[in-house]
Amino acid sequence: MSQRYPAEPWRIKMVEPITIPTREEREHAIRNAGYNTCLLRSEDVYIDLYTDSGINAMSDRQWAAMMTADEAYAGSSSFYRLEAAVQEYYGYPHVVPVHQGRGAENILSRSLIRPGSHIPGNMYFTTTRIHQELNGGTFHDVIISEAHDPFSDHPFKGNVDIDALENLIQEVGADAIPYVSVAATVNLAGGQPISLANLAEVRELTNRYGISIILDAARAVENAWFIKQREPGWSGHSVAQILKEMCALTDGAAMSAKKDSYANVGGWLAMRDPELAEKARNLVVVYEGLHTYGGMAGRDLAAVAQGIVDSVQEDNIRARVEQVAYLAGCLQDAGVPVVQPVGGHAVFLDATAVLPEIPRAEFPAQTLAAVLYLDSGIRSIERGAVSAGRDPATGENRYPKLELVRLTIPRRVYTQSHMDIVADSVIRVAKQGKAITNGLRFVHEPEALRFFQGRFEPVAQWQHGVPAPRPGASDLILQELS
Ligand SMILES: *Cc1c(COP(=O)(O)O)cnc(C)c1O
Repeated sequence: MSQRYPAEPWRIKMVEPITIPTREEREHAIRNAGYNTCLLRSEDVYIDLYTDSGINAMSDRQWAAMMTADEAYAGSSSFYRLEAAVQEYYGYPHVVPVHQGRGAENILSRSLIRPGSHIPGNMYFTTTRIHQELNGGTFHDVIISEAHDPFSDHPFKGNVDIDALENLIQEVGADAIPYVSVAATVNLAGGQPISLANLAEVRELTNRYGISIILDAARAVENAWFIKQREPGWSGHSVAQILKEMCALTDGAAMSAKKDSYANVGGWLAMRDPELAEKARNLVVVYEGLHTYGGMAGRDLAAVAQGIVDSVQEDNIRARVEQVAYLAGCLQDAGVPVVQPVGGHAVFLDATAVLPEIPRAEFPAQTLAAVLYLDSGIRSIERGAVSAGRDPATGENRYPKLELVRLTIPRRVYTQSHMDIVADSVIRVAKQGKAITNGLRFVHEPEALRFFQGRFEPVAQWQHGVPAPRPGASDLILQELS
């Protein structure tokens, strides 16, 4: 086991106590939350694997930088520190600070997208696509088909399908495509990377047509780590060198510093084109704040600047990605089905395989997330039919191919022991999965993004907070989970 996961490359200087709510408290909490882990209160959660965004642990260097940050309204030295870090590690000359990733997407989309624009990308991301659409653009998914297959072990499931991209360019015309949006890694594909070879092909193709490439850099350092591990010719390069190489193939980047950069909040938009930079600086003062703070406090600017330096340290990024792989490995060894290959920031459980008796209409993944919370107090989230919503045309539930529960690992927050607790709980529930025979139904279904605030109730009586077996089914689950 020990070689499967490197020891954490840090020691703990400050701790935040967490407590395990009792079984009774968990039953109470999940009932009050309408069996929706999104509605749990943080204080009722033991190990929180809801997201890796903005809840990463900062280093002593980041905290030190925050204490000495410059809160000047204009020309803060903390901004210039951030600008220098982006220039050094990502290589773009012009840097516009924003409050978080979607602030960058807003400014970028307003600068470049017009009604009738088409924006190809390697799978959509929620906030990215909505800003493209709000400005009259249409998103086109040009990711390789392997990305949609949870059993494909393609090492770079984030790759762009070059033929699909070229077909789109010929169909709508290069003039209608302001840029290709390339995410590294691809969040909604489970943190899957894109290879440098593929990115170079995208560059070659877009150069021929005079089209820009904008990188979604939220997890580009994690992507660089995968390139170092998996792509021939790159194992001898540092993650910092590979990151710079990736950026060199693109014209600009939108960044959520709440991911790779270990910040609680923050982001930036960067580019090579001085004219686009000028446009972006004009818009940032309208939507975010002055162009030298962009909605961030001086201390946030400082935390992001230092976070960038932290993020490319080899031992840091190695421990981060391998911790995710460690959890997945524990689950796979016990026969729990997880999406392959494991991505950079989360482990996805196949809920229909774990709870095979629950019909899709009773939301196996939503049920599994609730049962996991009941079992151990860990919080995961549903990524299946509840998240997919209803078909606007027919009003019917959409049943995506994948009915998943996501365990998202924040950076530097939990130790290997916590991962063991999570694995034990998932394995315990999975062993009893066949005995869980009834799931959940909506009692309150919001129209938009229903997974956030939807409330549920068990379709049949749940005993002790867990789904009661249908008559004739084993009652093992009750004994095991109580
Ligand atoms: C989180 C994220 C964003 C949006 O960033 P926010 O900081 O949450 O606004 C954009 N793209 C990707 C890939 C992300 O993961």
